[in-house]
Amino acid sequence: FLQANAFRNAHKIYVNGSDVPDAVASFADLYEHYNLPSYLRRNVASAGYLKPTPIQMQAIPLMLHGREVLACAPTGSGKTAAFIIPILVHLKEPAKVGFRAVIVSPTRELAQQTYRECSRLCVGSGFKVHVLTKAKASANSFGPSSSQRFDILVTTPSRLVHMLSQEPPAIQLNSVEWLVLDEADKLFEDGPSDSGFRNQVAQIYSACDNPKVKHALFSATLGQGWRSSATPTSPLQSGSSSASRTQ
Ligand code: ADP
Ligand code: MG
Repeated sequence: FLQANAFRNAHKIYVNGSDVPDAVASFADLYEHYNLPSYLRRNVASAGYLKPTPIQMQAIPLMLHGREVLACAPTGSGKTAAFIIPILVHLKEPAKVGFRAVIVSPTRELAQQTYRECSRLCVGSGFKVHVLTKAKASANSFGPSSSQRFDILVTTPSRLVHMLSQEPPAIQLNSVEWLVLDEADKLFEDGPSDSGFRNQVAQIYSACDNPKVKHALFSATLGQGWRSSATPTSPLQSGSSSASRTQ
C-alpha cells in the first residue's frame, strides 16, 4: 500500500476512491497483470510508446477493472490511449450489435484526432470505428441497419444529437457499454439555449440507456464547478466511480 502510494506520488498521480487498483509502472507491468490481446500490444509497440504516461498508469488499470472514472491530466499527456486501450480490451472482439463504445469530443478536429488514435490502436482487431462530424455524409446514408456493423463511434455532441433527434432516430445507442466524454470540462459548459453542450450531453446520456453502460470523463482541467465540491456534480455519482488526476 505504502509502496503503491509512493509510486503515485513520484509520478504526481492523485487518486480518490475506494479500492483503487495499483498504477502500472510500465507496459510490461500492465501486460503481466492484465490480459491484453496481442494485436493491442503490437499496436502500442508500433506507435512507439515505450512507457505509459502517468494518466495511463492509473486510468488504464481503473477502467480495466470496470470502474467509472473522472480523470484529469494535461494536454498532450496521452489521455486518448488511456481510455481507448481499456475499452478495446472490454469489447474483446467485433460484434454486430451496433455501437458499444461512444467517445464524445467537443470539436470536429479533436474527434478526428481521437478517431486516428483509435484506428491505429485497433489495427488487426477487426473493430470498426466510425467518426461522425459535420463534414461527413448526411444522416440518411447512415441508418440503424448500417450502424450495426460498427463497434466504436467517435463524434461531436451536435452531430450525434442531430441523429438522435430524427424521427425515427437515425442511430441506436442501446448497446453502448462505454460512454467517454473527452475534454469533459468543455462539454459541460453552458451555452446559449439548445446549442449548449451541456444540454446535448444530457441527451446523449439518456440515449445510452443500456443498464450496463459505464461512463468515463477525461479533461485537461477540473473546471470551477468541480473544484469547489468533493464529489463530482456530473452524472458520475455511483459508488464505483473514481477520480484520478495526474500532472
Ligand atoms: P491528450 O488527449 O492528453 O491531450 P493525446 O492522447 O492526444 O493527449 O496524446 C498526445 C500525443 O502523445 C499523441 O501523439 C499520442 O500518440 C502520444 N502518446 C500517447 N501515449 C503515449 C505514450 N505512452 N508514450 C509516448 N507517446 C504517447
Ligand atoms: Mg485529448
